[in-house]
Amino acid sequence: MNIVTLKHNKEKSLLRRHPWLYASGIGQVEGHPASGATVIVKADDGRFIARAAYSPQSMIRLRVWSFDEAEPIDHAFFKRRVRNAIAHRRALVSDTGAVRLVFGEADGLPGLIVDHYTGVDGHGAPREQLVCQFMAAGVETWKNAIVQALVGATGCPHVYERSDVSIREKEGLAQTTGVLAGDEPPASLIVDEGGVRYHVDVRHGHKTGFYIDQRDNRALVRQHAAGRDVLNCFCYTGGFSLAALKGGARRVVSIDSSGEALDLARANLAANGFEADRAQWLDADAFKTLRRLYEDGERFDLVVLDPPKFAPSREHVDRAARAYKDINLIGFKLLRPGGLLATYSCSGAIDMDLFQKIVSSAAADAGVDARILKRLSAGVDHPMLTSFPEGEYLKGLWLQKP
Ligand code: SAH
Repeated sequence: MNIVTLKHNKEKSLLRRHPWLYASGIGQVEGHPASGATVIVKADDGRFIARAAYSPQSMIRLRVWSFDEAEPIDHAFFKRRVRNAIAHRRALVSDTGAVRLVFGEADGLPGLIVDHYTGVDGHGAPREQLVCQFMAAGVETWKNAIVQALVGATGCPHVYERSDVSIREKEGLAQTTGVLAGDEPPASLIVDEGGVRYHVDVRHGHKTGFYIDQRDNRALVRQHAAGRDVLNCFCYTGGFSLAALKGGARRVVSIDSSGEALDLARANLAANGFEADRAQWLDADAFKTLRRLYEDGERFDLVVLDPPKFAPSREHVDRAARAYKDINLIGFKLLRPGGLLATYSCSGAIDMDLFQKIVSSAAADAGVDARILKRLSAGVDHPMLTSFPEGEYLKGLWLQKP
């Protein structure tokens, strides 16, 4: 049997049900657990603490499966966890073809992401698709059991893997993509979110093909877009742009440096039948373009800033803070009086308090007495464990320039 005994007092965070244990807390390892193997975790006095997945190459050496001594880790365990995750989602999220069904630690499945798309393919035929990311040795080891459980619980036969994420390297796992069950994803998959149609590129798109986490924030922008001139910076495939157009925006200027993303954004415009002249797509660097728009005297009533993760880890926080401040500073300047700013950070290393400080300092430098109307986060299908605040990555502020 594989048993990991912790160093003295290192069980404390686990007793508060934090689901990770770092390498520095490990005392003794009995047996020769392979990467991803289940181990019994004991305190140094021999007390049972948890069953966990062992990851010998990762700083995060243990990820807890269960704190219940009577709960074995087997196929039935994954079936239960997957069913539980899905049962809660179905009750919470509606009116969308894009839902996150499993969000890692928050669903007791550390390192696993599962998104479910329900829409139509390029011929208009109904099509469902599950897309998974396996980001830790434990879920990698149980991949087959997890896929079976997902197909069983959802009835969706098509499962695609998008484990092309660099974080796998920290676990000693190679990046990989491909079909895990059913057929290849269709070349074109269109989902409907609150009456707006979006193309999802399951094979090549960011994440699993779509920024599902921004659903509520798209709805917020839509609700306040009527009659406004909108700027959507870092627009990707136009998530916020389409929401603004649906909400009656007068015109939407969108910026992204990816030509491919903009091609899909244009396809989204066409799929929704919006007038092409209400939307302008700028294939350009955001930092330079924001400045140029300002110098050209362009002004907007609603600005969305949803950049990529500027701080992939703690070492990048200072530089990232300057980048966030830079774009928010110009964002404020580009707003007309009374204008609204929706600004985001998806850097886990920058928490809400720090983000608010950065945005506040940008407002101060722009000479704007900005008002925070609301703090924003990912949707309810991306929950956060009270014992695991690290799970919060997306945070945003909804502000008004007086
Ligand atoms: N807001 C989008 C997601 C943004 S992802 C949504 O809701 O769907 C970040 C985007 O920023 C990517 O599409 C990437 O191509 C773009 N990007 C990254 N660096 C950029 C830069 N310097 N200038 C413009 N766009 C950039």
